[in-house]
Parts: sequence; C-alpha cells; structure tokens
Amino acid sequence: MRRKLVVGNWKMHGSRTQVRQLIEGVAAGSVDLKKVEIAVAPTLLHIALAAELCASEDAGHLKLAAQNLVAEPAGAFTGEVSAPMLAEYGVNYVIVGHCERRGIFAETDQVVAAKFKATQASGLIPILCIGESLAQREAGTSAEVVLEQLNAVTDAVGIESLQSAVLAYEPIWAIGTGKTASKEQAQEIHRVLREHIAKSNTAVAQSIRILYGGSVNAANATELFSQVDIDGGLVGGASLKVEEFVSICKSAD
Ligand code: PEP
Repeated sequence: MRRKLVVGNWKMHGSRTQVRQLIEGVAAGSVDLKKVEIAVAPTLLHIALAAELCASEDAGHLKLAAQNLVAEPAGAFTGEVSAPMLAEYGVNYVIVGHCERRGIFAETDQVVAAKFKATQASGLIPILCIGESLAQREAGTSAEVVLEQLNAVTDAVGIESLQSAVLAYEPIWAIGTGKTASKEQAQEIHRVLREHIAKSNTAVAQSIRILYGGSVNAANATELFSQVDIDGGLVGGASLKVEEFVSICKSAD
C-alpha cells in the first residue's frame, strides 16, 4: 500500500512572515490527518527558517522539500546550494527536473539525472518531474515524451534507484494555467509510467509513488487522488493558501 504524498511547491513566493503563517497554518490544519504525508517546499533562502518551524512539536509531522540544488557537493559554483547543505538542514525531498527549471533555466535531461543522483547520494529523496508540452500532447506523444525523460534518468542511475524516489507527472500545459488534466488523462500517463517501470522491476513499480501536478486545487483533488495510480500531488499555486492546501491534503488522507 503506497502512502499518499502531497507536496506544496511555493516556487519563488513568500516572506519570512508568510513562511511562518503557512507552516503554522498547514501544521494546525493537518495535525489529525494520519494517512497522508505532507511536505512543503519553500525557497532555498527560507529553508533554514522552515526547518526550524518544522522541527517544532506542532509541525513535526510536516516534511521539508527543496525546490532545487546543484549536482556538485561543493566548489566554485557561485549562487548554488548542494545536497549535503540541504541534508544538514533536515531537508527530506528535493524537486528535480521541474518544467520551470527545464524551460527557463535550460536544464537538460543529463543535468536532471546528475541532480537526481546527487540528491540520493546525500540520503535525500528526489521528486523527479516529467511532463509533456501542449504541442506534444496534441501530437499524441505524451507517453513517449515522459518515458524518454524517465529513461534519461534511469539509464544514468539504474532503475533500482527509483526505489527511493518519487515521480511527479506534471503536464506543462497544466502548470499554473488553471487547466488540469482530467482524471482519465492523468491516470493514463501514470499507468503507462508504472507499467514501464514494471517491465524492469515489478517491486519498484508497485512501491514508487507517482504524484500528479498541474493546477491541483480543492475542487479537483479528490477525483484525481482516487485514481488507482495517482499517489498524491505536487501543488503549486493552491499550496500558498492554507485552507485550500489543507483541503487538498484531506483529499489524500
Ligand atoms: C508546480 O509548480 O509544480 C505546479 C503543479 O503548479 P500549479 O499547481 O500552480 O499548476
């Protein structure tokens, strides 16, 4: 039985005050949820504050995720933060391959694979994002595109590495657009991904959590999370509103 996971990706939003309000609000609203695992991903600058807040008794059930890292452990990489540094702050998960990193910051599949590997080397769990563009969906190549993105990582690090990883199917056309994949569209890609992994390793295919991301909100979370291969969500915009995010977490509980 896979435990559902809901991750709030705050992107480049938040002040110290907002980080405190969000963590305290989400922690209080979710304290009675027993089944779902919840993580929040503040900016790298706010990781230390978030770590401190999540270590408190009231918010101890919340996990911490980073939105990015550099693959090298240390060195002359001005402006970057590494996996060992995140580990020192008690980070649990690292989002790698988000479409905004791939698109705006030109991260290739090779860079994403290196970040995935570096994340695991420090004992952290990568949340590997994959997803197709609108043009690719309209061309009928969604499954092909996500499998190519997944294979680029597993070819580099081995399929067994998925044992301690999370996948997030995030169709680019649904990110921050208000357009959600229908539950059937999402389930279909999740099924393809799990079946593909099963061809190499059935145990990993059964245990890996595959999250859906793309305009998840309080109104659509229940039907998405009720799909057999959808194990929770990676939530952007809606994770910045305490009540809405808590409601999404309840849908996964
Ligand atoms: C995301 O950034 O991963 C995301 C899913 O954003 P949104 O929920 O706003 O579409």
